[in-house]
This record gives sequence, C-alpha cells and structure tokens, in this order.
Amino acid sequence: MKISSDILKQLAARTKGQCRFREPMSRHTSFRIGGPADLLVVPADEADLQNLLAGIYRSGVPCLVLGNGTNLLVLDGGIRGVVIKMTAGFRQAERKENTLKVGAGYALPRLVEGSAEMSLAGLEWGVGIPGSVGGALVMNAGAYGGQMSDIVKKVWGYTRSGDRLTLRAGQINFGYRHSEYPEGYVITGTELEMLEGRKNRIKSAMEQWMKKRQRNQPLSLPSAGCIFKNPVNDSARRLIGVAGLRGKKIGGAKVSSKHANFIVNHGGARAADVLKLIEIIKERTYKTIGIELTPEVKTVGEP
Ligand SMILES: Cc1cc2nc3c(=O)[nH]c(=O)nc-3n(C[C@H](O)[C@H](O)[C@H](O)COP(=O)(O)OP(=O)(O)OC[C@H]3O[C@@H](n4cnc5c(N)ncnc54)[C@H](O)[C@@H]3O)c2cc1C
Repeated sequence: MKISSDILKQLAARTKGQCRFREPMSRHTSFRIGGPADLLVVPADEADLQNLLAGIYRSGVPCLVLGNGTNLLVLDGGIRGVVIKMTAGFRQAERKENTLKVGAGYALPRLVEGSAEMSLAGLEWGVGIPGSVGGALVMNAGAYGGQMSDIVKKVWGYTRSGDRLTLRAGQINFGYRHSEYPEGYVITGTELEMLEGRKNRIKSAMEQWMKKRQRNQPLSLPSAGCIFKNPVNDSARRLIGVAGLRGKKIGGAKVSSKHANFIVNHGGARAADVLKLIEIIKERTYKTIGIELTPEVKTVGEP
C-alpha cells in the first residue's frame, strides 16, 4: 500500500520531534537489517506524541511503535506509514521509596544498573538485555528466572486515537514473552515495585549473569537475541543443535555456532535470508524432534 507523501508531510509537520523520510530501518534494529520506513518520528514528549497519534488516527495511516529495535526483524521492503520511535522524549525516571516510575524510552540496561546503585532488587536478571523499558513491557522480557511482570504495578500510555489510558498489571495478561494491550496502544511509562536489597548481592548476581551471557551468546555480531521461545521444559537452543543446524548459513544470515537459538548477521544479511533460516529451523526441528518452535522475534514490514 502506497501512502500519499502529502499526508506524510502533514503528519511530520504536526510534531516537534525529529522526522526522517525513507529512513532505513537497518539503522534502528540490533540485527542491522530492514528496508526504509516511509516516515520515522521521534516524538519530543507526551503532548507531541498525543498530537501525532490523533493525526495518524484521523488520516488512517498505519503506524508501528519502535523501542530499541532489539527484538524485531524488519523486512527488506521496509515499513509503510509511520514508525514512532519511543526513545528520546520518554527517558524520565523517579524513585519513591521502593517504587520506580520510569519512561518507556529509558534503556533497560541503564535501569538495571541504576537500580543496583540504589540497592533496589528485582531487575538483576535484565543485565545485558539491550531493549527499552517500553519494549521490555511488550515482550515481558526476562532471563534467569525473572521477568518484567514480576515487578510491574501499572503501565500508562495512549490509545491509537490519542486518549490516555492506564492499565493495572492484572489487566495486561502477562505470560512467557507475552502481554496483551489494546491494539495500537503506545506505552509511555510504568510503575515498578522493587525490593530493598543489598547492593553487593545485586551486583554479584548481575556480574555472574553477564559473564554467562558473554560465555554463551554471540554478542559481537548483530542479532535480535533468541529467535524462538523455549518450549515448555526444554530449550530451543538445544533442539536446534539436535536438529543439526548449528552454523547453517543462508546469504549473510547464520545460525550461531555459539548459541543455536541466535541468528546472526555476519555481513550484509537481508531479512529474506533470516526468514528462510527461520523456516528451515521450524521445518527441521518439527521433522526430527516433532516440536513446533514459535518465534520470539517479531517480524514486521513488507517483503
Ligand atoms: C544480544 C541480545 C540479547 C537479548 N537477550 C534477551 C533476554 O535475555 N531476554 C529477553 O526477554 N529478551 C532478550 N533480547 C530481546 C530484546 O532485547 C527484548 O525483547 C527487549 O525487551 C525488546 O525491547 P526493544 O525496546 O528493543 O523493543 P523493540 O524490538 O523495539 O519492539 C519489540 C515490540 O515492542 C513494541 N514496542 C516497543 N516499544 C513500545 C512502546 N513504547 N509502546 C508500545 N509498543 C512498543 C514494538 O512494536 C514491538 O512489537 C535480547 C536481544 C539481543 C539483541
């Protein structure tokens, strides 16, 4: 679907934030893959976002919300419509006793470090997860037995038509790398309930888990983290290894030899290469082990 450039220009004119036309999404994803977005906007603040959403809603232009782009495979044809990047204008953080109010654009690694510095426990598992707080709330990010939903009290943001809406954790139906928000909902912030802890214990857990990541994950190459969710009581990494796919390459994409549930971009990979590898992995694990793997990475855009 082609979007009229006049409408896109009108939408860009509504915002005080940064706007880029035909912006390569490879600049905004940890995979370093993705065709151009018609218009990428980084709203300056809440009022700016609200105004932009109202305009997008009225014009009927499709819209995708982006955090740090670390769980996304953007297809080679790019994204029609508007991409709203929730970073710069949404990085506020405030502590009241053991409660943290944090903006959706706050970087998760910074929040994890900051909490440890304040001796607040509950986020140690997040060390090394490169997303934004907003992305972590959508993905219910987690590791080493912890996840966002353990500490979320409330989430707030805007509906697709630009109305403010606050949700209690119980309304979000969090599950394993799963959450449910109203369609088109844009998260702007959250309230997290932390626990008072001992700084040295928090830091030592973080250090231990960071070392484990460095040992087991291909962190020097672009990727989107784990490609598949773990099946109940098993690991996708193990199953892909058993299916004999470690090191399998298609174009510039490769199943990591270090961690078989990572696909890495070892130079010039296209989304089509990654998609092909995903299909091969799904087919081969199903044929050899009888288990159907479900992608954790979200695929968006046009082929
Ligand atoms: C090296 C590496 C290691 C990783 N390790 C882990 C791990 O251990 N555990 C884990 O869970 N994940 C891991 N990930 C995946 C990823 O970092 C997380 O899923 C992260 O929470 C995604 O956040 P993001 O800001 O990058 O979201 P994005 O990738 O930008 O977006 C993810 C989804 O959230 C939506 N979204 C983002 N922000 C908002 C918002 N403000 N409002 C509404 N919707 C929004 C997007 O539309 C999209 O559907 C890893 C990734 C990498 C590259």
